[in-house]
Amino acid sequence: MLFGKHINRYYLKHLPVLLLGILSLVVIDFLQLKVPELYRMVINGINEGYVQVGDAVRVFDMDLLLDEICLPMVFIIVIMAIGRFLWRICFFGSGIKVETDLRGRMFDRCKDLSREYYQVNKVGTLMSYFTNDLETVQDCFGSGILMFADALFLGVLALAKMFRMNLALTLFSLVPMAFLLVISAIVGHYMEKKWDERQEAFSALSDFAQEDFSGIAVIKAFVKETVELMSFRKLNKQNEKVNVEFTRISTLLNILVTLFVESVICVILGYGGYLVYHGQFNAGQLVEFIGYFTSIVWPIMAISQLIEMRARGKASLKRIGDLLETPVDVADKPGVTEPAEPLAGNIEMRNLTFRYPGGSYDSLTDASFTIKAGENVGIIGKTGSGKTTLVDLLLRTYNVPDGTIFLDGHDVNDIPIRTVRKYAAYVPQDNFLFSDTIASNIAFASDTDDAATIEEAARLSDVHDNITEFTEGYNTVLGERGVTVSGGQKQRISIARALMKDANILILDDSVSAVDVRTEKAILSNLRRIRRGKTTILIAHRISTVEGMDKIIFLDEGRITAVGTHKELLASCPDYRTMVELQQVEGAMEESDSPELNRSNAHREEVGDYA
Ligand code: ADP
Repeated sequence: MLFGKHINRYYLKHLPVLLLGILSLVVIDFLQLKVPELYRMVINGINEGYVQVGDAVRVFDMDLLLDEICLPMVFIIVIMAIGRFLWRICFFGSGIKVETDLRGRMFDRCKDLSREYYQVNKVGTLMSYFTNDLETVQDCFGSGILMFADALFLGVLALAKMFRMNLALTLFSLVPMAFLLVISAIVGHYMEKKWDERQEAFSALSDFAQEDFSGIAVIKAFVKETVELMSFRKLNKQNEKVNVEFTRISTLLNILVTLFVESVICVILGYGGYLVYHGQFNAGQLVEFIGYFTSIVWPIMAISQLIEMRARGKASLKRIGDLLETPVDVADKPGVTEPAEPLAGNIEMRNLTFRYPGGSYDSLTDASFTIKAGENVGIIGKTGSGKTTLVDLLLRTYNVPDGTIFLDGHDVNDIPIRTVRKYAAYVPQDNFLFSDTIASNIAFASDTDDAATIEEAARLSDVHDNITEFTEGYNTVLGERGVTVSGGQKQRISIARALMKDANILILDDSVSAVDVRTEKAILSNLRRIRRGKTTILIAHRISTVEGMDKIIFLDEGRITAVGTHKELLASCPDYRTMVELQQVEGAMEESDSPELNRSNAHREEVGDYA
């Protein structure tokens, strides 16, 4: 049986069903112990011609055989079959319910955990909590109660009967059992440690496999299959090693149990035979005693299994408990209130300096700017200058100090995180498409799945024509992570998804980098038209993407070095001017080097890199 903070509640919750299971188990145990009495009656009847039935002595004939032995045996068999069915349903059914509930709680916690948690903990490890560990806990709950209850009731009942028959013989039989219990306790402790190591090794293996499958294209492109295979083999070997060690201990425990059980049979046969020889026991009684002992062999075995199972269950429950107890570090402050009015899209950042948890330098330093509701704002700067960090903080993906970010005048820390995100639509840089139809992917952010609205969003993000080229059109199912569409198509489907939300704040993080210039122009012009009066923030690499914006925020190594229109920045910010000139030179060189290449790049994007 397994106890702990996260499992105790289920014993109470399923108490009536568990009690019913225990009751049917006790009835079975009670009836099962009637069988050795029947053995005695048959043996003594055959040997002596008469048998003891209750207090009376009766002649052993066909009537007695039928009434006192065969019919009760049939009754016992039938009741035991029903009882076994009942306890299985009760114990295993509760185990499955516990597993389902725990899984729900784990998923609930996972959805609240911050992005930082997922950067530190790998998917493979998380998956092993949801599969191996959960299964172990479920097994331990259902089978654990069964083994515990059975060992207790059957053991106590049988021992009581054995004591009543012969005290000395029973005590002799129990000596090896005492050794067994001591050894089991020691081995059980060691097994728990080994099981933990085994689960760790399995997690490492599934992390590796999951990462390799996701990055298979890169592995193949760099011809690293053999290197990966060697690394996998190493992990697999480690997994095998701890598994073998665990199995070795578990086998040792099983063999020890069998050894002790068999040595008890030796004691019973030796000392019991001696008692029969001296007339203190008859043959029927010896068979009856052996029958009782045989009945407690299973409870004894169950004790060893219980020790093993408990060891596994405790280690798995600890891992699950760690997940359930992981603090939700990005959470609402107590007492946050919903703003009276919907957020219109006024944004202000005041002297924000931010360092990632565990980071060794500031990713943003003293950042300040204002965006009025309805403005189109471009954010530009070199890679690593802090653009993504800036929009992530606006969306409260990480914790920010009080008094640094304001939405419509409210400190973001004083309004619920859900509210901040409710009024924003976001297309992240590493956008993600679900393994679902294109239509469902686009409709994901909105409450409607109206085909015309979906199509309109796809037209606005200039991906409608590509979608209709697929045989299944909007019903085309995308593969895992949307690999059946090109990078550019993926970006545009993600933009369509964000447009479906029609939020007051739209944030696009480098979302048109993989589309050609013509498509980019079309999308930007559509955005200008439909987003009139609503805030749009666009992170870009190309100056051409943001030059028409109401305002451009220029970032350099985490510092906002200039804010203004394209013209203003050209006049006031030398770094911005240098960037513009550099991009103009690069553009001119690309044009003159290979106009065909540019055209073919655009064509490739349209056809799709993987399609
Ligand atoms: P940009 O979007 O301008 O390319 P980012 O905002 O992604 O830049 O990153 C700004 C800086 O913060 C970079 O130096 C980057 O390495 C660092 N950074 C980004 N994400 C994390 C993170 N999760 N933990 C630590 N440092 C990070």
